Amino acid sequence: MRAIQLMVLSLFGCLLCSNKQSYDSKLLVLDISNLKNDQVMALKSSNVVNWWVEAGDRILIQIPGSDKNELKSRNLPFSILEERVGLEKSELSVIRGAHINSASGLFKPVFKGGRALIVLKKDAARFLHAHAGHGHDVVVSDFEGSQVLAEKVRIDPNILLARSEWSAQQMLFAKEAMQLVDSDRWYADVQNLSQLNRHISSQDNIVARDFVASELKLIPGMKVELQEFSLGVSGRKAWNVIGTYDLSQSSKKAIFVTGHYDSISDSIGRGAPGAEDNATGAAGVIEMARVLSKMEINRKLVFIAFSGEEQGLLGSKHHVSELAPQEGDQIEYVINMDMIGYSKDLTYDVLLETSSKFKTISDKLATMASQTRLNVFRSYNPFGSDHMPYINRGIPAVLTIDNDWDDYVDYHKTTDRIDNVVKDMGWEILKMNVGTVAADSL
Ligand SMILES: [Zn+2]
Repeated sequence: MRAIQLMVLSLFGCLLCSNKQSYDSKLLVLDISNLKNDQVMALKSSNVVNWWVEAGDRILIQIPGSDKNELKSRNLPFSILEERVGLEKSELSVIRGAHINSASGLFKPVFKGGRALIVLKKDAARFLHAHAGHGHDVVVSDFEGSQVLAEKVRIDPNILLARSEWSAQQMLFAKEAMQLVDSDRWYADVQNLSQLNRHISSQDNIVARDFVASELKLIPGMKVELQEFSLGVSGRKAWNVIGTYDLSQSSKKAIFVTGHYDSISDSIGRGAPGAEDNATGAAGVIEMARVLSKMEINRKLVFIAFSGEEQGLLGSKHHVSELAPQEGDQIEYVINMDMIGYSKDLTYDVLLETSSKFKTISDKLATMASQTRLNVFRSYNPFGSDHMPYINRGIPAVLTIDNDWDDYVDYHKTTDRIDNVVKDMGWEILKMNVGTVAADSL
């Protein structure tokens, strides 16, 4: 409520302020897919550029009206995709949130990338109004100028590998594990889960819980437990499924692999198949457990399928709240999978999202991605999935998510069905994740 009032006030504030400057400036959207790292830096620091927003292969820049030719004379291999009248920083807001793509009917964002939208302030106010009380994490903030929504990893794979702390032996071990990832087996589990209405109010949510638990129990050495938690005032219960694999007696810290199995839709009564969101990730937890248990893993691994994610990360929040201080200290990192099986095209793009404090873990995944077909995008503005409670507790955690998720029109609908899931997309992300855990567990 308070946020909306503030938004309305600042909207009036903006009507009164002078926008004279914006008529003298231009916004350009550039394709920067052919630029090397240092060229992107040069572009961003160019004195022609007033401010910029980077989003993977594209960048939005504001330049003084007359300076387009000046920019072209820099001889950087970009192309101009769009040209618009200028906007000032003060006219813009940033929206981050799990539901942002459903806003597309309300307005056209000025720019988007990672899991964020740059929008006009007045559109942000309308968005807040439309989504008030929706129960999802939506963060609206003032646009503060030059920022990265998502950066593309533009480094030669060999250089990435040379920089990594993994030995040749660890890389070999990782590749061996990656070869064991079975995309057909994973896809079959996605199919099984997506046949169930896994909304927390549905009986089939419990069938899904038991499916995940029984698949984990089939793995020799896996200890499986259900962690019960309450969904708030209703008194309704939900359960996280936790598989602990610890045969090594190693003193190394544990690695956690997570993904939620609950789902949601626009018409729960008609179904909530949640194939992409997040049968793909829950089945990914099972597949990673199967593969890693076949390797000689030298550390404790914990596999968790959460419930209550769609009601506000309730399962992962509960799990973190139950960790004793020393247990939290004993977690090396958490790899979370939420929506790993959609691609709008034949280039497979992954987004690695974590806090800038935990760049190291995202570096590891980006390095291992060099052994796959993935293009890697990174964001250091985390929100809205089960990595958050860990990050907030100071535990390194990263979200792995396909980077086309924002174009997935069936998100949170009864049409989020198995036919939309791209087997090879999930396969590539699973290989990256499995390889990373394996390399760190030799
Ligand atoms: Zn999800």
